[in-house]
Amino acid sequence: MSDCLFCKIVSGDIPANIRYQDEQLIVFDDINPQASTHLLLVPRKHISTTLDVQKEDQQLIGHIFQTAAMLALELGFASDGFRVVNNCNEAGGQTVWHIHFHLLGGRNLTWPPG
Ligand code: AMP
Ligand code: ZN
Repeated sequence: MSDCLFCKIVSGDIPANIRYQDEQLIVFDDINPQASTHLLLVPRKHISTTLDVQKEDQQLIGHIFQTAAMLALELGFASDGFRVVNNCNEAGGQTVWHIHFHLLGGRNLTWPPG
C-alpha cells in the first residue's frame, strides 16, 4: 500500500524508533505517547482494520499478543498491569488504516476510555 503511513514505516521509507521487529511485525514508539510506555505493534502485512482480519491471519494476531506480553514483561510493568488496544474505524478512534495494537504501560489506566 504505497499511501499507507505504517507500510512506509515497515519499509523504512519513514523513520520510527523501532523497539522490536521480527519477520511478522514491527514495534515502535507512538509519536504521541499516552503513557510512559506507548508502543505500536504493527504487522508487516497490510490489513486495514479489525474487520479485515482473515482466517489466515489468526496466527499473526496471536503472535502480536504474545509479543505484547513479552514486551510488557521485559519493560517491567507486566505484573502491575497494562493495556493492549485496537481501535476500529472512526467512532472507535482509528486514525491510521493499517491494523495496529497499542501497548500502554507504566501508569494506572482508567476505565472506561474516552
Ligand atoms: P489509532 O488512532 O488507533 O489509529 O492510532 C494511530 C497512532 O499512530 C496514534 O496513536 C498516533 O499518535 C500514531 N502515529 C501517527 N503517526 C505516527 C508516526 N509517524 N510514528 C509513530 N506513531 C505515529
Ligand atoms: Zn499499510
